[in-house]
Amino acid sequence: MSATLLDGKALGLRIEDSLVERVASLKSRGVEPHLAVVLAGDDAASHVYVRNKQRACERCGIKSTRIDLPSDVSQEELMQVVNELNSDDSIHGILVQSPTPPSTDELSITEAIDPSKDVDGFHPMNLGRLVMGQSDGLLPCTPAGVMAMIDDAGINLQGAKAVVIGRSRIVGMPLALMLAQKGIDATVTIAHSRTKDAAEICREADLVVAAIGRPTTVKADWIKPGATVIDVGINRINDESRESGSRLAGDVDPEAAQVAGYMTPVPGGVGPMTIAMLMTNTVRAAEMILE
Ligand code: NAP
Repeated sequence: MSATLLDGKALGLRIEDSLVERVASLKSRGVEPHLAVVLAGDDAASHVYVRNKQRACERCGIKSTRIDLPSDVSQEELMQVVNELNSDDSIHGILVQSPTPPSTDELSITEAIDPSKDVDGFHPMNLGRLVMGQSDGLLPCTPAGVMAMIDDAGINLQGAKAVVIGRSRIVGMPLALMLAQKGIDATVTIAHSRTKDAAEICREADLVVAAIGRPTTVKADWIKPGATVIDVGINRINDESRESGSRLAGDVDPEAAQVAGYMTPVPGGVGPMTIAMLMTNTVRAAEMILE
């Protein structure tokens, strides 16, 4: 048996296509959706992520403005930039690219962003809405992207056993809440670095989501035949056969595709969906000011 691959790149582009019309409608009502991306420091991966996000804005017709700050930016300076963006009515979405430099406190930056412009969906108010079962606001992009992939594939999770490996505030925790919400109705187990017998727990699951950050942690023999496997992990590993000397690997051993019913590839799975959800949130944030 070989899993059906869930193509996040294709679905992400379809979602972006569907936003073009909403953007045009907003523009006809005098609102040009506008995303501000703050990039502090010279982390190479962050530069690639920001470039990809700006390209997605171009595809959707969303205006984007990039604000570059030095790697030694102070907390006060970064806060001031966020405050200025908060009070700029022409900006609908604010994204401060993670990780912020060591001289800054990322959590307090997240909390300083106006929740109605929090297109990453990480503000305590937006995460709190999720706990309250309100899923019509600005949702965290990666978990929302995972949910969109599951929905698009027509996978019914009602009463299903789901295991989310990873409990971060940006992926694992919010995703567990989304899977357990009314209407989705999965029974969710959250596993983490202190979990005993993660393999055993996964073997009973209809859905396994890996958001760990450690390459090929989840092995083929962890997976129940026919289960859905979502690999959120993006890990850069050495590969001498490549000109670059490295390649991307997920948190799941690709061999798991021999057992799973559905599986996401890395790259080309959850990654592009995260960007499509960022675009969706930006359009949603712009629409919300007209409501
Ligand atoms: P994170 O904040 O480092 O959290 C990792 C989680 O994995 C933690 O809860 C940790 O447990 C758990 N963990 C670590 N080792 C484990 C093990 N051996 N067994 C079970 N659980 C273990 O990472 P994150 O931000 O959630 O990101 C996770 C991965 O997703 C990374 O590879 C990241 O690059 C990727 N990612 C991808 C996208 C995308 O768009 N595709 C977006 C965001 C993140 P403890 O809580 O006990 O430490």
